[in-house]
Amino acid sequence: MKSENNWQKKIKPLKSINLVLLKYFLILAAILILLVEVSCFIIVSNTSEARTRERLTHIGMEVAAVSRTSDGAALSDYLRSFRLEGVNVYILSSDGKVIQPLNIDEADVTFDLDGIKKRLANRPRNSVVYSENNHMNYATTVDYNGGSYLVVNCSMVIFNDSMNKLLVYFILVGVIVLLVTALISYSVSQKLSSGIRNLSATAVRFSKGELDVNFTHAEYKELADLSDTLNSVRDEVKKSGDFQREILANVSHDLKTPLTMIKAYASMVREISGDNPEKRDKHLQVIIDEADRLAGLVNDVLNVSKLTSNLDEINFKVFNLTEFLYGIINKFEYLQETQGYSLMVDVDANLYTRADEEKIGQVIYNLLGNAVNYTGEDKTVYISLKKSLTEDRIKLSVRDTGKGIDKEELADIWNRYYRSKDSHSRPVKGTGLGLNIVKIILENHSFDFGVDSEKGKGSTFWVDFPSVPEEINA
Ligand code: ADP
Repeated sequence: MKSENNWQKKIKPLKSINLVLLKYFLILAAILILLVEVSCFIIVSNTSEARTRERLTHIGMEVAAVSRTSDGAALSDYLRSFRLEGVNVYILSSDGKVIQPLNIDEADVTFDLDGIKKRLANRPRNSVVYSENNHMNYATTVDYNGGSYLVVNCSMVIFNDSMNKLLVYFILVGVIVLLVTALISYSVSQKLSSGIRNLSATAVRFSKGELDVNFTHAEYKELADLSDTLNSVRDEVKKSGDFQREILANVSHDLKTPLTMIKAYASMVREISGDNPEKRDKHLQVIIDEADRLAGLVNDVLNVSKLTSNLDEINFKVFNLTEFLYGIINKFEYLQETQGYSLMVDVDANLYTRADEEKIGQVIYNLLGNAVNYTGEDKTVYISLKKSLTEDRIKLSVRDTGKGIDKEELADIWNRYYRSKDSHSRPVKGTGLGLNIVKIILENHSFDFGVDSEKGKGSTFWVDFPSVPEEINA
């Protein structure tokens, strides 16, 4: 139950590229809008306010100085002159009445003198700038008619209106930018995902058996790379399909021949040679040999699937490679005696290696079998096992004098089921699996191996074994 819960937790719902792109585009746009608009708003509002403060302070100080030397109508005109700039300047008596400019209708102008006094209390320069009821005020005390107050005042209605309009404008621009961002993100994600959708639709057709599909190049590099990879997967699948069909034909053919022989010889024993012990034994021997050949073919097919599924199962041990090689060469003796083959052996004594003995046996057996199968008219195969100059490697070479292998074929011969189309006289059974078994085993050992071949001169298959001292065995 617990593990089921964990399993449920691990499954995350898949997200669509469109939604993920839209989300990140919108977040980015919102951050940018906020940064730009808020900072603009703060800068504009702060600078305008600071300039108004400065202006009011400047006018206030100027008027305070003038009020010390001027009076009456002249001072009144002077104070009124600031109205042209949108600034009202008043001098108040100590009980809060406007005494300058002259003839001001008291009903129009009232000041909260107590508020001004409170604000001025403890001010170092006896002056203060403050905002109140959509106005910005500068207040200070002046020495006019024995102790009065100077108030410079300007309306902030227009400024506040402008700031409100700016705010609305910013919100509008923000919404438009977000809409445009969403549109751009939609079209970008459509462009990106349409390539992916095309590839996936083609892949579905391919998976349903349409092997001739073409994964077309999309306009983006990554998608073009993906198309190329999918096209090469398609080629490989096609190729392996062809190989499968070929091996089916090959194996069925190879199975058919010994079966026909077994049937024919069994009939011969029953009908002809049954009473003749000499002939009967000869015919029974053919049946046994052909049955062995069948068993060998089946073994090869089984071996490949076993090797591929048990990739890591290598049982390393130290063994005498020289003796082991001689043991395998002896199995080919019957070819020397019955069919005139010569195996020319040049082998250093007592070379030890560390590997899976049984699997290396298969490798050597397959290489010798091929050399015998494909060698030239002289029916000669050269086998050498030599220690390297550095003494840490042992090189096994199996050379034949046959037709050699085409350069284009060199890479393919290691593939499963690959068989040359040429017909050979083949004293050793073959299924097209031998070299694939060799490749899998040697790759699992991490041993170097390869083939050097020259058309018309023959081929040399080689394997590079590590050389180890006899006593190390782990
Ligand atoms: P098989 O020999 O049963 O066909 P292998 O996997 O052993 O299968 O070999 C694959 C193919 O490689 C052969 O069909 C043959 O074309 C080529 N090949 C292998 N060994 C030799 C060789 N010594 N000389 C030339 N061609 C070879």
